[in-house]
Amino acid sequence: MDIVLDNRTQTVIQIAISAMLFLVMLVTSKSQKTYPGFLDWTYGKIPNLVGWILVGMMGIVPLWVSAIVGNGLLALPILFIFSGIRKFRGKPARNKLNIFLLILLIFSFYYFALIQPNANARMFLFFIYLLILTGQCTYELLFDVPKEFRLSFWFTASMFFIGMLTSLVRVITIRNLTQAPGPFGIDQVQTMVFLITNVFMIGWTFGFFMMTNQRLIVELQDGESKQHKLATTDYLTGIYNRLEFIARSQTLIALAKRSGRPLGVLLIDLDYFKKINDGYGHSAGDEVLCAFAANCQQQLREIDIFARWGGEEFTALLPETDQMECVLIANRILESTAKLVVITESGPLHITISIGIAIFKPVYDNIFQVLSLADHALYQAKKNGRNRVEISEQVSGEYTHAL
Ligand code: GH3
Ligand code: MG
Ligand code: MG
Repeated sequence: MDIVLDNRTQTVIQIAISAMLFLVMLVTSKSQKTYPGFLDWTYGKIPNLVGWILVGMMGIVPLWVSAIVGNGLLALPILFIFSGIRKFRGKPARNKLNIFLLILLIFSFYYFALIQPNANARMFLFFIYLLILTGQCTYELLFDVPKEFRLSFWFTASMFFIGMLTSLVRVITIRNLTQAPGPFGIDQVQTMVFLITNVFMIGWTFGFFMMTNQRLIVELQDGESKQHKLATTDYLTGIYNRLEFIARSQTLIALAKRSGRPLGVLLIDLDYFKKINDGYGHSAGDEVLCAFAANCQQQLREIDIFARWGGEEFTALLPETDQMECVLIANRILESTAKLVVITESGPLHITISIGIAIFKPVYDNIFQVLSLADHALYQAKKNGRNRVEISEQVSGEYTHAL
């Protein structure tokens, strides 16, 4: 392979790439949501751009401008990038040691430019510095990465790792080539390093975009599932809300209609709940509701749908459960609730409930018909002294009200 790019060509390509990446990142940061650190990466492109302009003007401007200021500016972007990664990960930038290294580097530029001019020594130290910084970037992106972010983080880490290896190759070859260029000429190594460096620089910029986008997607998914939870569950007890109960009942009703299997409905109301609120306060009432809901859920099966209908009224849909089984389950709930001791700030509380049972029949069209029957049964339970279960009087296949 015999590719050699002269310094001017390299400089022009570098300037063009830096300017383009800077613009793309700037426009992105203005047009879409990005995260802390993104601007560090964006503005890190500026010293890169200016640095290359100054280095490219070597011979035109004084040596200290191109060799000290120019090279110093070229050493800055990786520092910005490292801070950006740390900030993106929600950590403090923590750059004291790196800034110290940068100052040392600039001092060595000064020494090897003006006091004892040695371009190779400058480049050698520059790539040692780059090796340390790209190593840190790789480390930050490689470890402690949550599963959902791994793909983009590890892609970016691999880009920095390539950067690290390239710097290492540069460090080794500069040392070997100080005396005589040999067959593998210094210009050719420089060209290769230049090409690889550019490819991985574009690669890590893409990596940042991937990391940003992946984070956006995860955030969006989180938001969606939170919204779904908010829309389908009761904020206090965490069980299904009325809307979700109705939605889920439609599927169970369709199944019951097709299979002809019974579908039991329980309507549950806490007894004298007002007294709890009045006597112990609303928050004690809330605690009772939560404790009851959690306990009741435990008495039910996985396939049952349990929901807060509203206030202190709860509903349960029991698929493939006939009247006899419904009574058994209802009594189990009744008894476990009576045994429940709710520890509140106002002291331990005991509660009882009343339950109305109705069975869905294929002739019904919707859940409200059978709920209305269960409601009548519940009314009966209250009338007959509470802390009891009543069954709706349903003539087989017909739609009648309980007495
Ligand atoms: P009954 O045995 O006849 O059912 O008597 P009750 O006192 O339970 O009567 P009712 O159903 O009329 O009372 C319901 C009370 O539930 C009234 C309301 O203030 C209270 N309530 C409704 N929602 C909440 C809630 O989210 N938290 C609390 N703490 N109380 C609630
Ligand atoms: Mg009540
Ligand atoms: Mg009530």
